[in-house]
Amino acid sequence: MTAFPHWNRTPDPFRELISADAIAQRTAELGAKITADYQPLIGAADVVVVGVLKGSVVFLADLVRHIALPVVLDFIGISSYGDSTVSSGVVQITQDLSRPVEGRHVIVVEDIVDTGHTVAYLLQNLATRRPASLRLCSLLHKPARSERQVPIDYLGFTIENLFVVGYGLDVSQKYRNLPFIGYVEQP
Ligand code: 5GP
Repeated sequence: MTAFPHWNRTPDPFRELISADAIAQRTAELGAKITADYQPLIGAADVVVVGVLKGSVVFLADLVRHIALPVVLDFIGISSYGDSTVSSGVVQITQDLSRPVEGRHVIVVEDIVDTGHTVAYLLQNLATRRPASLRLCSLLHKPARSERQVPIDYLGFTIENLFVVGYGLDVSQKYRNLPFIGYVEQP
């Protein structure tokens, strides 16, 4: 595999929490699990992988290449933090799916479940559209911040209460392209 470029900004603003290699390994495991679970279902109804914009796109791109089934991709935009790092608890759809999901198997792919408000709202909303099934895959979970109980069917990593960045996650819309998950060190 071609190596990622070294992030050699000085001073480096982030400490590495989860390496690119560890993410790649876990993503492959999740893809294999999803393949095994959905293999019996494919054919009768579409399996739609729904990426939550924008944070899930890097994870989703890697994950779907480890799902050895002809899945459909779609995306949904949700407002959560804006440019702040504090959850408002107010959630709204800013960009809807391109097609109805009625009668189709839906796997929602998120970057992180933090308070749980965003994903709780999203799952509730999608359930009203009568999919054949609805499951959640999240790269990260921060249980210390949980305010809503959301079952995560496929989880990458449980992390402590840190503000993380990279591999799709941003700081003021930047650093989503960092190949690893880092965290901002508090002074
Ligand atoms: P929740 O509604 O679960 O509190 O937050 C969900 C969204 O907030 C995530 O999809 C993500 O966009 C953002 N978020 C939560 N925690 C973090 C974090 O540690 N770092 C970054 N960059 N975004 C986060």
